[in-house]
Amino acid sequence: MNRILIVEDEIAISDLIKIELELRGYKCEIANDGEMGADILEAHNFDLILLDVMLPKIDGYELLEYIKQISETPIIFITAKSQMSEKIKGLNKGADDYITKPFEICELVARIEAVLRRYNKVNDIKVIDDVKVNIISRTVTKEEQNIYLTPKEFDLLVLLIQNKNFALYRETIFEKVWGEELEFETRTLDLHIQRLRKKLGWKDKIKTVYKIGYKLEV
Ligand code: CA
Repeated sequence: MNRILIVEDEIAISDLIKIELELRGYKCEIANDGEMGADILEAHNFDLILLDVMLPKIDGYELLEYIKQISETPIIFITAKSQMSEKIKGLNKGADDYITKPFEICELVARIEAVLRRYNKVNDIKVIDDVKVNIISRTVTKEEQNIYLTPKEFDLLVLLIQNKNFALYRETIFEKVWGEELEFETRTLDLHIQRLRKKLGWKDKIKTVYKIGYKLEV
């Protein structure tokens, strides 16, 4: 189980992140200011730190410099500003990634997984019953047989797995998988879902959630 420290002074946000990440199998602790963050980090080890930039007592940049001296724990900056200068400053100082508020949890989870993967702290192979998904080689097998997925089908599958047992909005899925490439097109998404269900034999596992979207139920 990966342990994550959330350093964030807005309690509504830190609590929400903790609840959502723990539902997805992470173990989280919260520090509500920079000083508390430094104290907790001295006493405990974490696999990743989510670090808000604007913090009371010690701000995110100062804490980042401190963390870099005492550990090699990866850091994702949480910034309220979308200005490029803030992002660049964070990355220059050694953050591994950043996310801009407000963000969706599935976006945060994708970034956390990507960073943990870079540090070899997550398993690259996801197993759901008889289906094995290798995130690095982008290959899928079912009962040891290769299943050919298109790149979009693969991205869709990974998103569903990362958020298993959570309903995802159609618009959210579309944005994560297709990004800016296409206007939201519900039929494109529905077709890809149908193809995935068929190829994986997951008719019952990928549920349609009324008025919302889809959910991988496992
Ligand atoms: Ca803040």
